[in-house]
Amino acid sequence: MTATVNAVRVPATLRGDGDGQDYPLLPPRNTDSAGGLLSVRRDLSALDGQTLKATWDARLGSREFPYRSGVWRYRELIAPFADDEIVSIPEGNTNLYCGEGMNRCPGCRVTGCALAAYAGVERLAMKHEGENPTASFKDRGMTGAISHARHAGAKVAACASTGNTSASLAAYAARAGMRALVFVPDGKITSGKLGQTVAYGAQVVQIRGDFDAALGLVQEVTESLPVFLANNINPFRIEGQKAIAFEICQQRGWVAPEWLVLPGGNLGNTSAIGKGFLELYELGIIDRVPRFATVQAAGASPFARWFENGFDTYEPQQAETLASAIRIGNPVSRHRARKIIQRTDGVVIAVTDEAILDAKRVIDGAGIGCEPASATTLAGIRELRARGVIAPGADIVGILTGHVLKDAEATARIHIEGSAARPPIVIEPTLAAVQRLLSAG
Ligand SMILES: *Cc1c(COP(=O)(O)O)cnc(C)c1O
Repeated sequence: MTATVNAVRVPATLRGDGDGQDYPLLPPRNTDSAGGLLSVRRDLSALDGQTLKATWDARLGSREFPYRSGVWRYRELIAPFADDEIVSIPEGNTNLYCGEGMNRCPGCRVTGCALAAYAGVERLAMKHEGENPTASFKDRGMTGAISHARHAGAKVAACASTGNTSASLAAYAARAGMRALVFVPDGKITSGKLGQTVAYGAQVVQIRGDFDAALGLVQEVTESLPVFLANNINPFRIEGQKAIAFEICQQRGWVAPEWLVLPGGNLGNTSAIGKGFLELYELGIIDRVPRFATVQAAGASPFARWFENGFDTYEPQQAETLASAIRIGNPVSRHRARKIIQRTDGVVIAVTDEAILDAKRVIDGAGIGCEPASATTLAGIRELRARGVIAPGADIVGILTGHVLKDAEATARIHIEGSAARPPIVIEPTLAAVQRLLSAG
């Protein structure tokens, strides 16, 4: 049995969510015969969980390619690609605030940190996925997708994006020597993300329409032209993002939290992290699966509404929120995400833009920082505690999905133009002026 583990390249096939049929990894396809998404399947019963865990622990701190990556460290459960097909920057190895070996936040009134105090809980850690190479968790999925693209011999890769996927695709395509084409809603992505994408050399195509229209177009393009689809419809995006669950458990000595809280846009991340925890549980590596709480922005909350009516009638929405990374009105991974919420006894809620900005102020003020979409996590924890859904002593891990520099416009709005604790001021270049400033408190 353990021989399979040492073989590293564990065989995988694709299974259609719609028709239940199996498909090979090549040629790449977007959907099954019934229009359903494709998921990676492997025979977990042929693997020994304890051997896998020991293998992954032995790779911690490795400098050997590709094990330095916080995705490919778990290679057996990511993809059966050869070393020279793997495109890794490397990604992952992100901090868990305020984890072992870290300072606690000053002014902390409970056992956790300033964020825990804000949310009214005692045990909260934040996994900062904004610490990835292009500053969002999208890199974890992109290393999977672009390695699949290389496996397929693709020359051009494309995606639709609210900004972070495009920055990530642009960087990975550049590393792989591929051409990248990104479709974004015109005028709707932050200048930081647009700048990153252009800088990495991708062709940006701004469309007159929203994210959902851009995704429709890129699906059509990749069905009819020799262009590889790099959105989270690609099954290896999901496999790569699963590593967030693996890394959280490994950082916590293979103990899963009670709650896993994250923002929800297209819902690929809910699906992926859920799949990751379920696989570890099936392998006997962890002894519980956390309850999932997916948090949406009120103006882009079709999944939260669907949850509220018992997953009965689903209605897409014309999305509007200042959290641009989750400004999505018709999430493509909603069926998979629904299964994760149901399987983990999870919940889905929506929080207002004001609540998101308020939570962002706390995260930024703690010296951690994140982009607006990421702050929905903390706003959601606070709301779920207020509703009594999350107990005060619950062991919670939240995901911060993107870096504070991703959205300088929003950050400036709340910290400079808005009600910042200390808005920037202009003074004369004298010692006396600085003294006056300090004595004002
Ligand atoms: C993509 C993204 C999300 C949403 O993730 P989904 O998988 O689409 O639900 C949230 N926050 C940030 C910063 C993102 O880039």
